[in-house]
Amino acid sequence: MHNQDLHTKDQQFYLPTFKRIPITFIKGKGSNLWDIENKKYIDLLAGIAVNNVGHCHPKVVKAIQEQAADLMHISNFFVSPPQVALAELLVNLSGLDRVFFTNSGAESVEGAIKIARRYAHSIGRGGKIISMHNSFHGRTLATIATGQPKYQEGFGPMPQGFVQVPFNDLEALKNEISKDLAAVIIEPIQGEGGIRPADVSYLKSVKELCEKEDVVLIFDEIQSGIARTGKWFAKDIYEIQPDIMTLAKGLGGGTPIGAFLCNEKIAKAIQFGDHGTTFGGNPLATSAALATLKVIVEENLLQSAHDKGLWLKAKLEELKLTNPVIKEVRGEGLMLGVELAIPATELVQNLLKAGIIANATAINVLRLVPPLNIPMEDLEQFIEILSVEIKKFQIPKS
Ligand SMILES: *Cc1c(COP(=O)(O)O)cnc(C)c1O
Repeated sequence: MHNQDLHTKDQQFYLPTFKRIPITFIKGKGSNLWDIENKKYIDLLAGIAVNNVGHCHPKVVKAIQEQAADLMHISNFFVSPPQVALAELLVNLSGLDRVFFTNSGAESVEGAIKIARRYAHSIGRGGKIISMHNSFHGRTLATIATGQPKYQEGFGPMPQGFVQVPFNDLEALKNEISKDLAAVIIEPIQGEGGIRPADVSYLKSVKELCEKEDVVLIFDEIQSGIARTGKWFAKDIYEIQPDIMTLAKGLGGGTPIGAFLCNEKIAKAIQFGDHGTTFGGNPLATSAALATLKVIVEENLLQSAHDKGLWLKAKLEELKLTNPVIKEVRGEGLMLGVELAIPATELVQNLLKAGIIANATAINVLRLVPPLNIPMEDLEQFIEILSVEIKKFQIPKS
């Protein structure tokens, strides 16, 4: 079928929740994608920070193929070798004590909220959850209740017990602390909100405050985790240990899997039957995740994300000097945002025509979250193209 026919059928049958770009992809390798007309692209979006080891990494492909031939699914009533191995590895990498596997980011956040409330109730606190303005934690009911009002419109009534405060504002958070409060959920680096890192002193104060008040601190590392920032998790840049951490996106190398981890204090509040999942952490998904994490170690992708991130950031800063339309360059490792003085949509469209996949988030931020093993030649080519495309935009005269 041709691209146009596929697009037409897609428009006919798929729920119209995504404003699709009419491009059909059929193949990926490393940091490259090919569309159905065999046009090659450099992928700086990586399926929204998912393909951290690149598209179709041979070791991940092999792990999935072998596991699919052996055993795909058994239910969580039984033990499976890849799930045990992945649980142990994630506990060791994170310094937390326990893990639960899910199928997506939102589901990880849902689980995190549940166990945080469970713990809070066990020590006589209420169930209120504080989240940050401009945060993003998913699209289920509870996760939209934590998020931006635009995602809640028309979906009421909202689940109860969610309050938002401004990001990087300690006083605002302090004002919401009461016996009612169960947990604070924060992305150490806001992703959908426009690649906005938390201030170091702010996040350290939040940690101290939560510890003092025995309020559960949840870090949502669904976008910032899995070596994206040059560390295994963004929390390692801040050197702050949360009580609970959520993961998904990059964890499975393209396979849908998420997780939340917690410390023993929280885990003690959980009893048999308190939470569950049918698919979560099945042998197929966990073997893909295990292979993904092994590739990150073997190919030294923490270093790669760090070094390439520094290079890319420096190049973007350089472009900023001669292009006033670039307001700010933010982020860590290969989780970078270029804030423009104008909406980023047109630039994104022009880049796409030139064979570069990136996206606009928070309206005027160009988000760059490429595979961590993207070759330097691809990054160089991107900078070359961006420097041509960005010149076409000027700051609108007001
Ligand atoms: C993407 C994302 C989610 C939601 O993940 P889904 O897999 O789409 O449910 C939650 N939190 C953050 C920080 C994210 O970036």
